[in-house]
Amino acid sequence: MLRVEGLVVRYGAIEALKGCDLSVGAGAAVCLLGANGAGKTTLVRALAGWERPVAGTIELQGRDVTRLPPWERQRAGLGVVPEGGRVFGDLTVEENLRVSGRDADTRIGLELFPVLTERRTQRAGTLSGGERQMLSLARALAGRPRLLVIDEVSFGLMPRAVESIFGVLARLRDEGMSMLVIEQEEARALGLCARAYVLSQGAVQLEGPSGELAGSEALRAAYLGGAGSAAG
Ligand code: ATP
Repeated sequence: MLRVEGLVVRYGAIEALKGCDLSVGAGAAVCLLGANGAGKTTLVRALAGWERPVAGTIELQGRDVTRLPPWERQRAGLGVVPEGGRVFGDLTVEENLRVSGRDADTRIGLELFPVLTERRTQRAGTLSGGERQMLSLARALAGRPRLLVIDEVSFGLMPRAVESIFGVLARLRDEGMSMLVIEQEEARALGLCARAYVLSQGAVQLEGPSGELAGSEALRAAYLGGAGSAAG
């Protein structure tokens, strides 16, 4: 579904991604962990097409999309829920869902998040943080993606909202949606996804089945950028 090879992204003199490699199989749920500043959001931005890599490739369903603009990646099956969500505050919940595209399917999100149906005619700017993230996810789903890339959806939310959103992600996973879940809440991410990557200093330091990585010394070491010790 997704293959990233040798991805390099620079902000001036700062190399935020230094040759990042990862992949997500069809129907797989994979998480990407890493400390602040590891390069996670930069990867999301490069996948979405908002940041131009200086080297490397991004393939979606076998197609090289590295040079494609964001909307063409969306058409190729990519759905992105960016950090902090992305909604139009002045538009209603329903209008936000409609602007997701010409063939937007607004029902999926409304069915998954009943609270959005209740808030249908409410302006998105008046929603709670959790509801905004739900709407952001619903917007991504309205584009009928084959792969969801979700950046720190739990950040700053009340535990109940996180619970509810992860419940929906688990349901999508069970229905076979491919997803790359970027998270700070390590235990939740490892519980949701069968496989995990740890990014540190712009490169993948560790990769493996979530069950093996959870609580392991290798996971700790990888967070700190210890590629050598993480191999053991
Ligand atoms: P966080 O969890 O804090 O969001 P992250 O893993 O998502 O961290 P990035 O936001 O991708 O990390 O940042 C990677 C590196 O690139 C950091 O050193 C950061 O300071 C730097 N960086 C990010 N955005 C910019 C920018 N627009 N200009 C310059 N440097 C940037």
